[in-house]
Amino acid sequence: MKSIRFLGAAGTVTGSKHLLTSDGVRLLVDCGLFQGAKLWRERNWQQLPIPIESIQDIVLTHAHLDHTGYLPRLVRDGFRGPVYCTAATAELCAILLPDSGRLQEEDAAFHARHPGTSSHQPAVPLYTEQDAQQALALMRTLALEQSLALGPQARLTLHPAGHILGSCFADFLLGTGGDQRRILFTGDIGRLDHGNTQALAAGPARVDAVDYLVMESTYGNRRHPDVDIAPQLAQKLRTALERGGVVVIPAFAVERTEKLLFLLKHLLEAGQIPRVPVHIDSPMAIQAMEVFIAHAQDLDADTRGLIARYGSPHQWPELHFDSTPEQSKALIAAAGPFIVLSSSGMATGGRVLHHLARRLPDPRNLIVFVGYQSPGTLGELIRDGHNPVYIHHAPIAVQAEVAAFEQFSDHADDEELLRWLGAFTHPPRATFLVHGDPDAAQALQQRIATTLGWKVEVAAWLQEVPLT
Ligand SMILES: [Zn+2]
Repeated sequence: MKSIRFLGAAGTVTGSKHLLTSDGVRLLVDCGLFQGAKLWRERNWQQLPIPIESIQDIVLTHAHLDHTGYLPRLVRDGFRGPVYCTAATAELCAILLPDSGRLQEEDAAFHARHPGTSSHQPAVPLYTEQDAQQALALMRTLALEQSLALGPQARLTLHPAGHILGSCFADFLLGTGGDQRRILFTGDIGRLDHGNTQALAAGPARVDAVDYLVMESTYGNRRHPDVDIAPQLAQKLRTALERGGVVVIPAFAVERTEKLLFLLKHLLEAGQIPRVPVHIDSPMAIQAMEVFIAHAQDLDADTRGLIARYGSPHQWPELHFDSTPEQSKALIAAAGPFIVLSSSGMATGGRVLHHLARRLPDPRNLIVFVGYQSPGTLGELIRDGHNPVYIHHAPIAVQAEVAAFEQFSDHADDEELLRWLGAFTHPPRATFLVHGDPDAAQALQQRIATTLGWKVEVAAWLQEVPLT
């Protein structure tokens, strides 16, 4: 019997983990970390409801931690099988996963020094940098559109998803003859319309027919504003920098940072913002930038044009990579005006917390959010006007100006998702919506059911669905 069981990213946008079972096949599609509110993060500490040794293979759709960040834990708990992904995903994971392990170790050390601040006693890391290195050793790269046999009755093919560099759809052909079924997991789907968002990855592949579809729904109830972001962003930046402010941009080190850098460079060269230093306070950013430049052929035409025009960001005189802890501390003490990009993008951890704690209380400063802010994250609280907010258990007054630009999203919006589905020549037997907050997933379900007339349901956590 074939089935899918949703072990994560059901009812939320994090923790992507889907178990696909068929004759002689048992594999996980994505192995993500739950992030955001405590309710979700606690699930990282719960035993998976299946024996880990029974999982034969793992397929990763892309490098974001909500799709890969649980892999080191699974390896620590005994997983030894191959992990299939694209080469760019493997290279980005080699940056992200060890860093995630280091952060887990630092968090555990912090909680050990401050008894009572952790719900786990003793305070131990979910996994370590060493566990992450072991996970990386299991990775096997697969080229896009190259089919791979996962046993006699299963084939895997990866198609471009257009979400971030290296992102793909995982397309499975299970069984033989009349029992053969095609099952497609989208992972995260990139934008169909790049407009002025300076998206980096080229768009998602068209798909025309599958038997079962497991699809993301992050922006299932929202439309990306159809306006050029550059003038608004430039005006906000100019005003803040001219009053001597520091601009803090919480941005994920992979993709979002690279995208923003090219836009900032463009605004600087066009004279639309003052020529101030731009700092990237992230130990991972230099490495991530190198992966991007190395895979420039996979980027969209606009981005290739920007690289041709402005060269590698490593050569830009106004750009500073602050990768050592000392450089980071100096930046936190420094006076404006300047711009700093630092992760994490939802302000759930990382160096950006120190920048926010320092800059939020000063009304000259500007905080700019450029990505999705999951409910319960510090990023969401600041964006929605909470005051004070708590950083490292201390109350911080929010006096700085706050702006949010969702146009930077790497996810298709509701209209784009519907348009992507519009290429199907037959409806799937069933479509399951994952990776969305409940409102977004339900809204998309209604849209698909009424517009296309498809059988579509919102996946529930731990639910198992038979594939007939
Ligand atoms: Zn993603």
